[in-house]
Amino acid sequence: MKSLPYFSRGEVVRGFGRGSKELGIPTANFPDSVVEHLPGDISTGIYYGWACVGSGDIHKMVMSIGWNPYYKNTKKSMETHVIHTFKEDFYGQILSVVMVGYIRPERSYDSLDALIAAINHDIEEAKRNLELPEHLKLKEDNFFRATTSTSMTTSNKIMNGH
Ligand code: ADP
Ligand code: MG
Repeated sequence: MKSLPYFSRGEVVRGFGRGSKELGIPTANFPDSVVEHLPGDISTGIYYGWACVGSGDIHKMVMSIGWNPYYKNTKKSMETHVIHTFKEDFYGQILSVVMVGYIRPERSYDSLDALIAAINHDIEEAKRNLELPEHLKLKEDNFFRATTSTSMTTSNKIMNGH
């Protein structure tokens, strides 16, 4: 995919609240405006990369892009699970992410246990792959430090692409 790495930033909005409740794996949802900016060659499926909430630390992440077949969603979504334990929710905050690699296409599962097992497998793969030098480099990208600027206005909080 020629659009990778893909940088994206947006406010964390409410989804259906099922991520943490049913799976024990919360996923921070981007608003439609961010999802609509995705380049055409970014296929649906599971990605890994780096993520940062507000001006906080940069953590590994896995992201699902797609139609959520398990839930028979009718809407495309971009949901990020940050591989970190947060003290509290961060709805309304700005999430900055860089997608660096693709793990697999999305698919439907026969049971919730099978879905959870697949996500945990994705998390392990993300953790491993992100240790590669070319991926570690992106963690240091200036993109993540741009959010610390106090002069930032609402208009440039939402930024997509390179
Ligand atoms: P929703 O359907 O509203 O997205 P989820 O059950 O998927 O609800 O939970 C997502 C929310 O959980 C995020 O918006 C964020 O505020 C919070 N959260 C806490 N820890 C994490 C994490 N490690 N990764 C992603 N979101 C997290
Ligand atoms: Mg979610």
